[in-house]
Amino acid sequence: MKFGGSCLINNHAFNKIISITEHYQSDQKIYVASAFNGVTDLLLKMAKAAENALDIDSHMALLEKRHFDIIEQIFQEESEFYLAAKDWVDENLSILENVLADIQEFGFEPYYQDKVISFGEILSTFILNQFLLSKGYDSIYIPANEIIITNDEYTNAYPYFDLTTSRMRNQIAPILEKPNKNLIICITGFIGRNKIGYTTTLGRGGSDYTATILARALSQIGIHQQIKVILWKDVDGILAIDPEFVPQSSLIKYLDYDEAKHIANFGAKVLHPKCLEAIEKLNIPLEIRNFNKPTEQDNFTTVSPKSDRDQIKGISTVQDGIIITITSGSLVDMPGILAKIFKVISKSNISVSLVAQSATEISTSFIVKKDDADIAINSLKNSEYFSEFFEIKFEEVAIINITGAKILDNQTKVRIFQAFAKRDINVKALSQSTDEINFSIVIQKEQLMDAVTVLHDDLCEEFASSKCEDNAN
Ligand code: ASP
Ligand code: MG
Repeated sequence: MKFGGSCLINNHAFNKIISITEHYQSDQKIYVASAFNGVTDLLLKMAKAAENALDIDSHMALLEKRHFDIIEQIFQEESEFYLAAKDWVDENLSILENVLADIQEFGFEPYYQDKVISFGEILSTFILNQFLLSKGYDSIYIPANEIIITNDEYTNAYPYFDLTTSRMRNQIAPILEKPNKNLIICITGFIGRNKIGYTTTLGRGGSDYTATILARALSQIGIHQQIKVILWKDVDGILAIDPEFVPQSSLIKYLDYDEAKHIANFGAKVLHPKCLEAIEKLNIPLEIRNFNKPTEQDNFTTVSPKSDRDQIKGISTVQDGIIITITSGSLVDMPGILAKIFKVISKSNISVSLVAQSATEISTSFIVKKDDADIAINSLKNSEYFSEFFEIKFEEVAIINITGAKILDNQTKVRIFQAFAKRDINVKALSQSTDEINFSIVIQKEQLMDAVTVLHDDLCEEFASSKCEDNAN
């Protein structure tokens, strides 16, 4: 189970973790914790400001206060757990101070960033561990950098699954094989280490990923027949449509890995896309559950091999895209043009989302994030090849993604375009690769609200468990 920052905010929240622990009494449990809310951001700020020794003292004081405030709330004063937690914070903050001093002395490097931001999880997870002990549970704290081995890509490291599995086999499996069912292993989210032992981090929001990496390793070791990942969130699960567009949007109860990947990649920030890659091949189920409803029987999202494929699962949107279109009447059927376009874009380290080219090859359109657009356009315009033979245009757009196997059905597409026609919504570009259960439609940014609403209203019954009757209002 992974507990995010919003599950660790006060005494009330910590006590909910106890309710959850009781509810899952008969299961062996590993808890993965994120940093307390806002702490990773604060640490990141500190790492970046350290070079110029800016605000270190005030930030340190704030960091200490954030943790002490919670410690004061959740422990009985002067109890051994209270003291252990306070000592831990003090000790680690003084290690952090040394790292910040190193940054000031040697200059900022990416590995310092990971070292600094890892303290968020080191503090929160140890405090959770002490809290469980104080409530009479047997709990041990294990920093994930003893278990998760990654490559050297600081700030966005990728785990070596095999190396991680063998660490799990040596260090975690023996603990789980003990007969003590009441033992809870608390492992820091978000962090790992590379082969030479430096701390790495798995990318922002990476604690979800930690939980799935650990589940995958356990499943590979095979000591448990039934492994499940539960991500506790402050929402019921993944919604079919962002309630910003459709307030009565329904919860998606079942998604398979493929569907979940599409939905996680766009919009729905509830699930980190990397998580799915870790668990997919081993068919490990993942649940997204509301932290405020620990015993909920029905309303949560399960990602597993099981899904009703005769449905539209969800609509997600991208609101701030720029579509760049490159046109040439003279250079059709020339090999290598796409390679040239994307080489220019990738040199600027810009990620491209949707790509559309008509079979006549006269023009190619692709979408980049608004923040990247200026650089992308300028780098194309500054390249001799494109400035000479091509016309480059761009425009602000929104993307609508419709996910679910039902989209493979012609009739569904007919209904989509009929719905758009009713509201005069112009489709600017389209993309769907072969057999892909996702259809992306590019429209004018201003028409997004209208487009999503009409899709929901007109295709309502195609959605899983949708509340179509609400449309009458
Ligand atoms: N604390 C990290 C972050 O804020 C990881 C996580 O929360 O999952 O990005
Ligand atoms: Mg977080």
